[in-house]
Amino acid sequence: MSQSLPEPKMQLRIIPVTPLQQNCSLIWDTATKHAAFVDPGGDVDTLQGALKHFGLTLKRIWLTHGHLDHAGAAAALRERTGVAVEGPHRDDQFWLDQIEESSRRYGIVGGRDVTPDRYLEDGDTLALEGVTFDVSHTPGHTPGHVVIHNKRAKIAFVGDVLFAGSIGRTDFPRGNHEQLIRSITDKLWPLGDDVTFIPGHGPMSTFGNERRTNPFVADRLTGYGGVAKEAADEGEQRTTKRYT
Ligand SMILES: [Zn+2]
Ligand SMILES: [Zn+2]
Repeated sequence: MSQSLPEPKMQLRIIPVTPLQQNCSLIWDTATKHAAFVDPGGDVDTLQGALKHFGLTLKRIWLTHGHLDHAGAAAALRERTGVAVEGPHRDDQFWLDQIEESSRRYGIVGGRDVTPDRYLEDGDTLALEGVTFDVSHTPGHTPGHVVIHNKRAKIAFVGDVLFAGSIGRTDFPRGNHEQLIRSITDKLWPLGDDVTFIPGHGPMSTFGNERRTNPFVADRLTGYGGVAKEAADEGEQRTTKRYT
């Protein structure tokens, strides 16, 4: 998947990593060729190969949450490039401390525990070549999950909070279903229906499309914006794929 961002001179490329096919995003400034990875979950050689292919210098490493498929290659990338790791929120450190252990459980090679150089808080900003990205704390899938959003490009990196037609799993330690729904309606929907989001797994979508059609968080189920509430179709929810 490749897309040209409306933000002047920014490019985006999505690189699926690990056997869990996590969407690692590579974004860069076409003038300076300075780049950021969002959620480098694994396959560090592939990620470095992508930098080389596009002639880029890595300047930022950003993490949405502490799961191995999103954060597993952060330590190796930092070691090889000297770039600091920013995010997620400190409440995900317990996940970042068990990447090696959970990698073994999933049979994934090379994942490493990592302690970020900077934890992120709700309202923080991240920057790449003068372009600002806003940070929202969005617990529920994990307690320290954050979403990274660029206002002008109307694009959001939402990790495992929301997917096209689904939402993140909440059956992990310190997962919370009600909190996840609140994170989506209180933190994501106000960003605008026309925001395109890149989820941790699967295809991109827009917030507006999910407000209409998502079997977990459509407005008719959450009552968002004063819409009359209907009961969720449990059958439809059960057959929907939810991601790690
Ligand atoms: Zn994931
Ligand atoms: Zn996850």
